[in-house]
Amino acid sequence: MKPVQRIVIAGGGTAGWMAAAAIAHNMGETVDLTLVESDAIGTVGVGESTIPPLATFNRVIGVKEADFMAATNATFKLGIWFEGWRTGAADDRYFHSFGITGRDHWTAGFQHFWLHGREKGHHQPYDDYCLELVAAREEKFAHLPDNRLNYAFQLDATAYGRFLRRLAEQNGARRVEGRIAEVELDGASGDIAALKLESGERIEGDLFIDCTGFRALLIDGALHAGFEDWTHWLPCDSAIAIQTESGRPAPPFTRAMAHDAGWQWRIPLQHRTGNGLVYCSRYLSRDDALARIEGNLEGAAITSPNFLRFTTGARRRQWHRNCVAIGLSGGFMEPLESTSIHLIQRAILRLIRMMPAGGVISERDIAEFNDQQLLDMEQIRDFLILHYKATERRDSAFWRHCAAMEIPDSLAQKIELFRETGRVFRRNEELFAENSWVQVMMGQGIVPQRYHPIAAKLGEAELDRLLSGLRQDVARTVASLPSHTDYIARYCAAD
Ligand code: FAD
Repeated sequence: MKPVQRIVIAGGGTAGWMAAAAIAHNMGETVDLTLVESDAIGTVGVGESTIPPLATFNRVIGVKEADFMAATNATFKLGIWFEGWRTGAADDRYFHSFGITGRDHWTAGFQHFWLHGREKGHHQPYDDYCLELVAAREEKFAHLPDNRLNYAFQLDATAYGRFLRRLAEQNGARRVEGRIAEVELDGASGDIAALKLESGERIEGDLFIDCTGFRALLIDGALHAGFEDWTHWLPCDSAIAIQTESGRPAPPFTRAMAHDAGWQWRIPLQHRTGNGLVYCSRYLSRDDALARIEGNLEGAAITSPNFLRFTTGARRRQWHRNCVAIGLSGGFMEPLESTSIHLIQRAILRLIRMMPAGGVISERDIAEFNDQQLLDMEQIRDFLILHYKATERRDSAFWRHCAAMEIPDSLAQKIELFRETGRVFRRNEELFAENSWVQVMMGQGIVPQRYHPIAAKLGEAELDRLLSGLRQDVARTVASLPSHTDYIARYCAAD
């Protein structure tokens, strides 16, 4: 049982400042909050594409969306185009949108009705029933009532950190500049007692949040909380990031373009584009990777290449003793579905929920936190593996390895259930819902052999009315939307 009064955050990257802003906003008067960061060390300097719940996080910390967008040069994001993942052919692409496709019935998702329609001669693509997808294709955007167009952001994460820092400091967080030289443990309990800085300053705390990035100074360096390595399922271990001038008006989507040993991202912001090549160093050398990304940029480079190495996996105990790892220190999966900043958000909100102000945190809270956090990561891990495993590509050793690899039972069950019956079940508040799984599985070429009998109950005329009505509604709504870039300019300029 550990009373919590003084909270110390080690590290001021996106994770550190998100944690500081959220804790200061929600518990500012009840805890004493300090963040230590070192300008000399800096941050990882990548992380631009997000998923919709970030809008909720911004609301939770009292941020106005237009202010946030202006401060971070953000664009709206309706989903991700996956290009070359199934066959590698020039026309091989599919969209993973944030919305829903068609209209679900409580018994069965829309895919069942679409499959029945296909059997009856309705050959319009599944894509045409998804509002977010069609809007993305036409590069249009607007806020619609009831959040009908579901969106996320593409943003400058470094600017987001600066923005959150202002907010956190306004709400009472104290920032200390300096390099942590030593993590001091309490001899009796084994808990962290204090951080010792190079300057000699000593910062004591009751609860420490490790946001020191890949270094994981506290959770690993001092507490050795263990790491589960998932490289055998997600073999990419390297990335090169380069920012370029915007080559064109920013579209409301991220691109994930597969290559023969990984993939490349392209993320449009208002003022520039983020690019990165993710690859497996077993199959591609650093020099070849650099040549590949430099040969596939749309605008002129404005930064020199940022070389990154990572090990995919999760810290076995994200909360261990009086230390919680949030951000890269807690684990990492490649940014294929833009989930890292989301995992930071989930961990912070979960921690706040489990942290009675000035009160006491029990070992049961710690165990619950760890179970929930690891489950989140395992579910995302399975979704990422799907993109690699369900491929028809055999054109390189990398893709042959991916197609042949063993996958977790949890994922095998999901894929085979869908293949046989068209069904997807969302278990335990899983992040990615049915629409996400269906779009990616069908995009990767898994088409169900059967569909729910409820779909076959629709007569010809009824089925035709349903399908054409849904398509027309999507087309009409998209026709009424302004262009994405016009909308951003107006939205960020408005008071
Ligand atoms: P960092 O940014 O590394 O911050 C670590 C902090 O700790 C810094 O402030 C540093 O100064 C401090 N620190 C470290 N050691 C010391 C010390 N000894 N003393 C004092 N301070 C210290 N996420 C997404 O959601 N979307 C994406 O598109 C995306 N793309 C990514 C692409 C790549 C290639 C990688 C590697 C990551 C990507 N991420 C993405 C993840 C995202 O970048 C991170 O989750 C996010 O930036 C949080 O990083 P962090 O704050 O944990 O670590």
